[in-house]
Amino acid sequence: MAHVVIIGGDFAGVWSAAGAALARGDADLRITLIAPDEHMVLRPRLYEPEPDLAKVELGRILEPIGIEHRRAWMSTIDTVRRVVVADGEEIGYDRLVLAAGSKARRAPGSARR
Ligand SMILES: Cc1cc2nc3c(=O)[nH]c(=O)nc-3n(C[C@H](O)[C@H](O)[C@H](O)COP(=O)(O)OP(=O)(O)OC[C@H]3O[C@@H](n4cnc5c(N)ncnc54)[C@H](O)[C@@H]3O)c2cc1C
Repeated sequence: MAHVVIIGGDFAGVWSAAGAALARGDADLRITLIAPDEHMVLRPRLYEPEPDLAKVELGRILEPIGIEHRRAWMSTIDTVRRVVVADGEEIGYDRLVLAAGSKARRAPGSARR
């Protein structure tokens, strides 16, 4: 069975997983999303009065469309052997989507306000 692995549980990762599930049709295709958190955080809504509510349980999105959620942190990608290492475990893939997002970085010398 072919295996699609997606790294990341936010907008890019979840939409990639949903897109793969849609494209799967009747094909024999396993889809796994690897992300450490139980929830997807809706960042565009973080400015709202109760930012803690701006999240959705990943299981509610992924389970109904047959996507496995591995709560783990990916540390290594071996593109030759087509495996990722997540929390010390090797997971083989046929296709890999890296949707691990970004982190804000301060420009060198820029002071905190
Ligand atoms: C306050 C705010 C308001 C915004 N408003 C808008 C807006 O109005 N419109 C708009 O288009 N955009 C907006 N954005 C930007 C938008 O939220 C981001 O572009 C979007 O969330 C990026 O999604 P992403 O999936 O690419 O990455 P992230 O959101 O960075 O998600 C990355 C995911 O990868 C996981 N991950 C990272 N490294 C690993 C690893 N090694 N192993 C396993 N998992 C890993 C993380 O846990 C997370 O689940 C806003 C952002 C903020 C903060």
